[in-house]
Amino acid sequence: MNEYLASDIKFLKGVGSTRAEVLQKELGIFRFTDLLNYYPFRYVDRSKFYKISEIESDTSYIQLKGTIKHIEEVGALKKKRLVATFSDGQQEIELLWFKGTNWIKNTLKINEEIVIFGKPNHYKGSINFSHPELDTLQNRLNSAPLEAVYHTTEMMKTRRIETKVIRQIIKNALNHERYSIPEIFTDEFCKKYKLIPRNKAFQYIHQPPSQRHIEAAQYRFKFEELFFLQFPFIRKKMIRKEVNHGIKFTTNNTSYAHFINQHLAFKLTNAQEKVLEEISSDLYSGKQMNRLLQGDVGSGKTIVAFLTVLRAIDNNYQASLMAPTEILAIQHYIGLKELADKINIQIGLLTGSTPKKERIELHKKLLSGDIKLLIGTHALIEDTLAFNNLGLVIIDEQHRFGVAQRAKLQSKGIQNPHVLVMTATPIPRTLAMSMYGDLDYSVIDEMPAGRKPIKTVHRFGFAREKVLDFVKEQIIKGRQAYIVYPLIEESEKLHYKDLNNGYDELLLSFPRPTYQVEMLHGKMKPSDKEAKMKDFADGKTHILVSTTVIEVGINVPNASIMIIESAEKFGLSQLHQLRGRVGRGDEQSYCILLSSKKLSSNARTRLQAMVQTSSGFELSEIDMQLRGFGDIAGTRQSGLDQLKLASLNTDSTIAEKAREAVIEILSEDSKLLNHQNLYVFMREKQGYTDWENIA
Ligand code: ADP
Ligand code: MG
Repeated sequence: MNEYLASDIKFLKGVGSTRAEVLQKELGIFRFTDLLNYYPFRYVDRSKFYKISEIESDTSYIQLKGTIKHIEEVGALKKKRLVATFSDGQQEIELLWFKGTNWIKNTLKINEEIVIFGKPNHYKGSINFSHPELDTLQNRLNSAPLEAVYHTTEMMKTRRIETKVIRQIIKNALNHERYSIPEIFTDEFCKKYKLIPRNKAFQYIHQPPSQRHIEAAQYRFKFEELFFLQFPFIRKKMIRKEVNHGIKFTTNNTSYAHFINQHLAFKLTNAQEKVLEEISSDLYSGKQMNRLLQGDVGSGKTIVAFLTVLRAIDNNYQASLMAPTEILAIQHYIGLKELADKINIQIGLLTGSTPKKERIELHKKLLSGDIKLLIGTHALIEDTLAFNNLGLVIIDEQHRFGVAQRAKLQSKGIQNPHVLVMTATPIPRTLAMSMYGDLDYSVIDEMPAGRKPIKTVHRFGFAREKVLDFVKEQIIKGRQAYIVYPLIEESEKLHYKDLNNGYDELLLSFPRPTYQVEMLHGKMKPSDKEAKMKDFADGKTHILVSTTVIEVGINVPNASIMIIESAEKFGLSQLHQLRGRVGRGDEQSYCILLSSKKLSSNARTRLQAMVQTSSGFELSEIDMQLRGFGDIAGTRQSGLDQLKLASLNTDSTIAEKAREAVIEILSEDSKLLNHQNLYVFMREKQGYTDWENIA
């Protein structure tokens, strides 16, 4: 890094060692480069002077020009405050100070023209400003019209390092005699992608001559952020594509076509067809497939998986399908066995609790190649499994699996098996591309025809009886219901109290033998789980009372009611997943969210969002606003927390451009031999850990 950027901020004019310490502790600013990269979060326009008569109830920060008419200290001791009357020539308002009053008292001069800046308060019908910024008119007229505003912490405020101070020291850094910012892209590149020079961008973002300059500077930095975010993934993908020879499928259309023509109960959606084509083009390309398939809950990913399995089988390869939970593995097994039986294909199920005897039997049949598709949980990777000829690995509900596990499963293939990762996590395309950027990407963006939107309501707990009456009506019509309880984790022991009590109470409202109510939870024996799931899938059980073990993947089209108890305790994506268990058939489905009356504003927003929209993408955006990227699984490791200006929601066009740019550079110069500045910059870039694996 050049000497200027690497300089310690304590040597900067206006900082010194005391302030430097605060800046380090509070904002992580050590060197000039850190300071320059501390961007303002907004700007105020100080070219306009407001009149008091123009102030409205929602007016934000503004500036006024006028004179002080009167100054007075009122109250005593702790209640002491300074009150000044300010006039803009037409009207008067009060200015208030509660701290530092002596200094202010000595600064203010009656009848001298001054400029005040702040946010107006409305108090009992009158307007005042508390602790406004003060300036002389002359000073103001000499300053830039647009002013950067920076975040400061409480601790900084008590040390009097406020936005004004930050603005000043950044100004000192920008006007430093040794100011120099190396460019990292070539001139040609900057021209092509419409990037202003880096050294200008820092000037403009902190001291913008105009709104246009702010936009140009922000564009440059957003582009950079999205460039560096995607760079390692794209690089990894390109390397993989170069070296990873995959199994080349050649046979087409045997059991695949047969199944579609003879046994498929519905017509594939256009989105499913498109995705199947994308998958096929991988399978028959001779390169290893590494594809992410994203589709909202209920969009029909399973059949895509099954048809892909048939492609493998048609080419004499085995396939495995890995699910995140035992129940889901069981469910896939039950569902897919029905399909496989139609075309005489043997499939197997392996979970952590498959008895030893069965396990040995499974191993044998896998090795001999009799079993064509093995479905299972993590056991699939933990176990010392040997396939005869594994050619395809499918992972359902990716967000629960780590990259390491993916690699381990792949390594079970003698050659590089094709990999399809399926996820319902509804994340924006750009986010997906960044989180799983080393994968190719397909999306099912269309629901099967004829689905009726699920009716979602929110009720308070005391409406439960009415809700249960409704369930009864629906059962009489032949429907089935889920009732889900949150699992309360306490001192590592799982408590099933709510679930058990709920179950006992339900039995009173739904007595046997008229009604069949069953309970399902994670701690049950696998064979019991399988039996309960099967009874529910077969329609023998009317109500399945369970914990969130049924959260993902479960598919029972006749179930049309989802009741979620203590819904306020669930996160948005979980609620969306749970709701996705109904609405899978032709009947009108319902999701009823029960909660207590007392709700945090966050919980209220979540429940309202559920009632208002059924789009997983919309919900995920709301979720991100509520929680920030940091908490969303996998974002930290993906470097998304490094985004300061760019947003994957709103800057997807820039993300695309940056992606294009990365590909352009890497395909011409994969080792960055002709991009020395960029190479050096990336090597030095803090937190850019992936570079070692890349260079
Ligand atoms: P998910 O994408 O959530 O895994 P599933 O694969 O479980 O969804 O499919 C949900 C339901 O929709 C299943 O009952 C499945 O049989 C059905 N389905 C899938 N594709 C279609 C289609 N093209 N037309 C009608 N129903 C479909
Ligand atoms: Mg699924």
